[in-house]
Amino acid sequence: MKSPRSKKNQHPCLEVRNSKIHGRGVYARLLIPPRTQIIEYTGEKITHAESDRRELLRQKKKSKGKRSDIYQFELDDKWYIDGSKNGSIARFINHSCEANCTPHLRGNRIWFFSNRTIQVGEELSIDYGFDFAVWEENPCRCGTSSCIGYIVRKNIRWRVKKKLQKTT
Ligand SMILES: [Zn+2]
Repeated sequence: MKSPRSKKNQHPCLEVRNSKIHGRGVYARLLIPPRTQIIEYTGEKITHAESDRRELLRQKKKSKGKRSDIYQFELDDKWYIDGSKNGSIARFINHSCEANCTPHLRGNRIWFFSNRTIQVGEELSIDYGFDFAVWEENPCRCGTSSCIGYIVRKNIRWRVKKKLQKTT
């Protein structure tokens, strides 16, 4: 028997609610110390080819004005985890330019760890690590002091900054 949706979305120290960054977000219900193994990113394991196929479908839906959030996490150069299929609430964790969590690969599973103390009521975030090629497609609304306005992997943000300076 399938467990009700509400139960699946429960976690002892986290809760899902509307986020100022984007859609729904994940918030700490308890104080989380640094380097805590918080939650696994679960879902359906799919190949890169299948991921590309789903992304095309999503783009189609989006162009018709339908809701089309993406919940895919790149596991390695062969696999993705699609959190939209039986995924944990980790799929709702938003990107921030000052992320308080970091994903770590353990075997072939992805776990999110805190990289500092996370206060009660604080939203959890990671660096989505997007490539330079797609920076313009992904605006960031994290609102942190180091936000550059776009979702790009931390070590290449300087390149986007440079581009932005040139156009203003
Ligand atoms: Zn940002």
